[in-house]
Amino acid sequence: MTKITGGCHCGAIRFEAEGEFSTAFECNCSHCAMKGFKLAFVPRDNFSLTQGEGAYTTYHFNKNVIDHNFCSTCGVEAFGYGVGPDGSEMAAINLRCADGVNLETLNIQHVNGKDF
Ligand SMILES: [Zn+2]
Repeated sequence: MTKITGGCHCGAIRFEAEGEFSTAFECNCSHCAMKGFKLAFVPRDNFSLTQGEGAYTTYHFNKNVIDHNFCSTCGVEAFGYGVGPDGSEMAAINLRCADGVNLETLNIQHVNGKDF
C-alpha cells in the first residue's frame, strides 16, 4: 500500500489516499474521454478529503451512479465517489492530480466505458 496526496489546480481541494497506484484506468466513455482521466480506485475508507469539503460541485450523467466532484473554483476533477461491482463504496482518484505520481510509468488499463 502506498499513501498519496493530491488536489485540484487552485489548491482548494486536497486529498490523501492509500492504495495501489502503479496502474491507471483510462476509460473511453463520453465523459472520461473529454477529461482524460487516469483513474485509480480505492475503498472509500482509504480516501479522505483533507481540505475542500463544500468546495466542489458534483456532476451526474448516464445512470447517475458516480459522483463526479469537480472544484467549483478551478474546475479540475481530482476525485469522484461511486460504488464497486460488489456494492462497496469506492473513491476514484484522478492520478493526474496526485503529487509525485509519474504518469509515464503507470501501467494503463483500458476500460470500454462507452458501451455501458
Ligand atoms: Zn480548485
